[in-house]
Amino acid sequence: MTGSRNDRVPRTGSLQAGSLQTGSGQLGAHPLTRLRGVGPQLAARLERLGIREPRDLLFHLPLRYQDRTRITPVGALRPGSDAVVVARVELADIRFGKRRSLLVQVSDDTGLLTLRFFHFSKQQQNAFVRGHWITCYGEARPGPATIEMVHPEYRISEQQPEMPGEASLTPVYPATEGVGPGTIRRLVSETLEKDLETVTDALPEPLRRELSLVDTREAISYLHHPPSDANVAALSEGIHPMQRRLALEELTAHHLALHQIRQRREGLGAPALGTHSSSWERLQPLLGFSLTSAQERVVNEIVADLSRSRPSLRLVQGDVGSGKTVVAAAGALHAIDSGYQAALMAPTELLAEQHRNNFSTWFEKIGIRIEWLAGRMGAAARRASLESIAGGEAAMVVGTHALFQEGVEFHRLGLVIVDELHRFGVGQRLALRGKGEASGAVPHQLIMSATPIPRSLAMIFYADLDISSIDELPPGRKPVTTVVMPDARREEIMQRIHGVCLQGQQVYWVCPLIEESENLQAQAATETRDLLAEQLPDIAVGLVHGRMKAREKDQVMQAFRAGEYHLLVATTVIEVGVDVPNASLMVIENAERLGLAQLHQLRGRVGRGAEQANCVLIYKPPLGRQARERLALLRESNDGFVIAQKDLEQRGPGDLLGTRQTGLQQMRIADLARDRDLLPRVESLSRKLRQDFPEAVDPLVDRWISEREIYANV
Ligand code: ADP
Ligand code: MG
Repeated sequence: MTGSRNDRVPRTGSLQAGSLQTGSGQLGAHPLTRLRGVGPQLAARLERLGIREPRDLLFHLPLRYQDRTRITPVGALRPGSDAVVVARVELADIRFGKRRSLLVQVSDDTGLLTLRFFHFSKQQQNAFVRGHWITCYGEARPGPATIEMVHPEYRISEQQPEMPGEASLTPVYPATEGVGPGTIRRLVSETLEKDLETVTDALPEPLRRELSLVDTREAISYLHHPPSDANVAALSEGIHPMQRRLALEELTAHHLALHQIRQRREGLGAPALGTHSSSWERLQPLLGFSLTSAQERVVNEIVADLSRSRPSLRLVQGDVGSGKTVVAAAGALHAIDSGYQAALMAPTELLAEQHRNNFSTWFEKIGIRIEWLAGRMGAAARRASLESIAGGEAAMVVGTHALFQEGVEFHRLGLVIVDELHRFGVGQRLALRGKGEASGAVPHQLIMSATPIPRSLAMIFYADLDISSIDELPPGRKPVTTVVMPDARREEIMQRIHGVCLQGQQVYWVCPLIEESENLQAQAATETRDLLAEQLPDIAVGLVHGRMKAREKDQVMQAFRAGEYHLLVATTVIEVGVDVPNASLMVIENAERLGLAQLHQLRGRVGRGAEQANCVLIYKPPLGRQARERLALLRESNDGFVIAQKDLEQRGPGDLLGTRQTGLQQMRIADLARDRDLLPRVESLSRKLRQDFPEAVDPLVDRWISEREIYANV
């Protein structure tokens, strides 16, 4: 029913060239070359779309649809709209104007239309025989003499075509260079005809019946060739039941894949660490505060993980300032007291140094030295550091990604702590885990994140790990009060800064990225510093940006922490983790350009001390609707979970998590933001499959996840 329709798809000139390609069945034939007109070159291009064998074409689903089922009389063409026209060829003529072009005049009983081609062959030109019929599809545009179509898709016939309109909506596929839209359509149609029958349903029949799901084949053929009465609006938005049917399957496949990773990991060995740490016992009373009950709970969860002889992987999520660092320290001390090493890796040198300072202050009290490893170190210091890491003298190592580079050998690595994971690629995290394997066991892993993941998302993206939430702030923290102001009120803000500084408190002024360029950012920050220093002559103004050397940055931050600067002008380098309790005012310029999660992170730099903290979000009018909503939400809420949820709705999960973080391959049909409501069904479907139909799991995963290697390594 489906495939034959495609014979009527009007062919473009380029399609003809493509389909004339020879070379099917060349030596070592590529599986795709079994399709008509596919040679090695086209096969290679298709591979770029992730299509390796004909069956992949079936799962290469349309992005949207065109309605070519109705014929529009030429006289009724409206500029700006797409239409199918059937007309007689009147005249084909080459014009030598600014650009050589082929103009073809066609007409029906209602009017005259001009087709314009800038690229054409002699053969193509000759095919426009006066009196022959043309069926063409394109966008109508106003032209100098008549309405025009530029490079329409077309087909020529000697006789008036009998059924010129398409019987089904025309799919528009994700395109790649060198593969025309008609080519993909034709190949998909051919595959539907030849191979659809061989597609078995990945979901067992009893499950499909229970959940009232149509079979995969039906959904696939419907989506490639929706009938002319299909709900185009629903299809275009991706919410048609047939699309949701496949999205459910795809999401389930991802969930199952992550589950398999967990199982694989849990099949490996890890050091079973002691549940009692005397160092941690000694440290607690020296901290100067007692843990919140949320922190206590999470420490217990971590300790329980570490005591098992299989590698744990736990994500500790907690809002900015919830006190994740001390929880990580508790984990590290359990590893150390059991005779293992712990390593903490931070995404920037600045953050790593801050952790070093925190850990040094704490661990000094109990006689444990911190080893340091970062990119920018003198050769001698580096050598010494590497030696003590390899020899095992270094029990606690803090650093940047330099920790997992080649040449770093740990003696007995028992626990890897990764701060603010979203700044790291999955590969980097894996490399560090690999460091422990030399000693025969995989280290435990602890990931700390201040970007909370809404539960629904975590379930899919993090099915391979366990999650702990520090859902309580240390006592006495007052929520940051946030105000939103247009930049015209700068004067007022200056006075406020002045007042805050005179009271002995400190202020951050953040100039977020103007462009994706560190140079420009640094320049903007420098100018702002000069301006502020000039306008506030009795205030000491510091500057930190990404172009400064690590040492310089560190010096400025130390000086700010020590109170030598009242005001610190910074780029978003201070986004994560920087902790200066005496800072009580945060000013963020161009706030309308930043995402919710990032603004919340920045704002979290204040409110760490006893004083009531404030945040001023400065924007440049006019505000778009989304930006207005973002700023309003920040004014109303201090809850990282609420903000993350909204961020998800506004930007989708890719941005929220950073695609690098998840290691998840791009979804083909599902969209986590749009299809959120499917997630509870995904969870139960996945459970049922694992319990009752384990033999169905692998085929389902293989069908949807072509690059299993990504997962295999996570
Ligand atoms: P984050 O979760 O954002 O990484 P930090 O670990 O940097 O937060 O902690 C923020 C600040 O709160 C630090 O100065 C830390 O010493 C302090 N802190 C942590 N836990 C507590 C607590 N239970 N009571 C009081 N202060 C705490
Ligand atoms: Mg932190």
